[in-house]
Amino acid sequence: MMNDALAPDEKQREMTSSAPRHGFLLVISSPSGAGKTTLARRLAGEFDVRFSVSFTTRAPRKNEVQGRDYHFVTRERFAQMVDNREFAEWAIVHGNQYGTAIATVNAALADGEVCLFDIDYQGGRQIRQQWPAESVLCFILPPSMKELERRLRQRATDANDVIERRLATAHQELTHYGEYDYLIVNDKLDQAYAQLRAIYIAAGCARVRNDAMAQSLLREAAARPAAPKP
Ligand code: ADP
Ligand code: 5GP
Repeated sequence: MMNDALAPDEKQREMTSSAPRHGFLLVISSPSGAGKTTLARRLAGEFDVRFSVSFTTRAPRKNEVQGRDYHFVTRERFAQMVDNREFAEWAIVHGNQYGTAIATVNAALADGEVCLFDIDYQGGRQIRQQWPAESVLCFILPPSMKELERRLRQRATDANDVIERRLATAHQELTHYGEYDYLIVNDKLDQAYAQLRAIYIAAGCARVRNDAMAQSLLREAAARPAAPKP
């Protein structure tokens, strides 16, 4: 809010700092087990980003919490949401349905926030189609297929047949890496996280997201007395 008690120069500075912020949509995808949830949660823990909690028809894992990890819904409810056009994107992944609420995306962008998505390549593609200028797409690669399998097994959250299905789908998912802006190899977790963090920070500095700030500063500069002629 403008403060009338401020001197004209200070008023201008206040206007500059209140230039509208432009958020973006940070999509993180990978084959199951490569570490995207680990990396996404770490980023959400360090920075003020909104984690998009998806809707899914998958059954909750033993450590998952309704509303925190997913909104777990029945197939009927999911179908109803599709019919009501409540999803920005949705897809069938490993035999279950997953979707992102359009309200989550719209609210984050309206508030100038960064919204973080842990979704598959089908979802990433749909988000990019609808918000091309706002989308930043990162694909997480495991260091090897052997290590991917080891991680899926040691996570111990899925039955053997579910793990087999996820490993079998990994090849097909990997073929979509070319649709992404950034690739991160998640070998050493700290190094992979440092890379994701750098992408997040750089994406916030992109010119398209700071145009209002630059324009506001330009107006402030133009309003100052012209430099004396030499
Ligand atoms: P995704 O969300 O891609 O399915 P997760 O984040 O659940 O993957 O990670 C799968 C498993 O691998 C988890 O047990 C996680 O703790 C572990 N993990 C993640 N990154 C690494 C890493 N760099 N090195 C070793 N284990 C990792
Ligand atoms: P999981 O069952 O391991 O939590 O997730 C399985 C896959 O579904 C992962 O690739 C995850 O990124 C993806 N996924 C989770 N939520 C969504 C979503 O809302 N939309 C899409 N398209 N994929 C999702």
